[in-house]
Amino acid sequence: MDSNNLRKEYVELIASVREYVEEQLQLGFIESEINEPERESPYANLDLPTLAADAAGCTKCGLHETRHSVVFGVGNPEADLMFIGEAPGADEDQQGEPFVGRAGQLLTRIIEDGMQLKREDVYIANVLKCRPPGNRNPAPDEVETCSPYLVRQIELIQPKVIMALGSFAAQMLLGTKTGITRLRGEFHPCNVPGLRVLPHRQPPVIMPTYHPAYLLRNPKGKADVWEDVKKVLAFLAEG
Ligand code: SF4
Repeated sequence: MDSNNLRKEYVELIASVREYVEEQLQLGFIESEINEPERESPYANLDLPTLAADAAGCTKCGLHETRHSVVFGVGNPEADLMFIGEAPGADEDQQGEPFVGRAGQLLTRIIEDGMQLKREDVYIANVLKCRPPGNRNPAPDEVETCSPYLVRQIELIQPKVIMALGSFAAQMLLGTKTGITRLRGEFHPCNVPGLRVLPHRQPPVIMPTYHPAYLLRNPKGKADVWEDVKKVLAFLAEG
């Protein structure tokens, strides 16, 4: 076959493939991602109070049926340092504030006695805003549904550092399945899909560390957390 015939056959093949794909698209059997605009978060234009008010009435996942209160977050909306845990527990659900139970009191001691900051100087939140019944692990669909609240919180607060408390928060913020023991102790780049950062700001860096609830069961881990805290303080001191 000469090169002209070969070229003609190639062109016909391409045309028939294109015709087939267009027909399948029209029939809805396949979906096109070409030129599809990036989906904007429904919260993209909300400020923090409006976002909190939206979350307060949220019924987007099944956790709204068993919660007592929505635990949105607390602290300085311009904090350089943010702490993110997994989900509210029983005390948090009752009081509507994150990290107020025994683990929360330990976190407050880390912030106030260890870091010499005030609890109200930092911002504290969870991945999930409603308590999973019996403190079970968050389900993937609950995380997917709820995480846009957290993403918008991070966008609005624009912290320099996020301390991710425990495997669950660390894995969500870093987009990994690696466990906390291997992740902690080092800064990692934030890997939250769709997170927007102001032009003059850097995305936050993530310092994974043990969850205070783990420290209550395993006090030996406090030395590791203190090492992580010292690295965060040094980072913040550098400006
Ligand atoms: S966990 Fe999040 S998505 Fe689910 S109901 Fe609560 S606020 Fe809404």
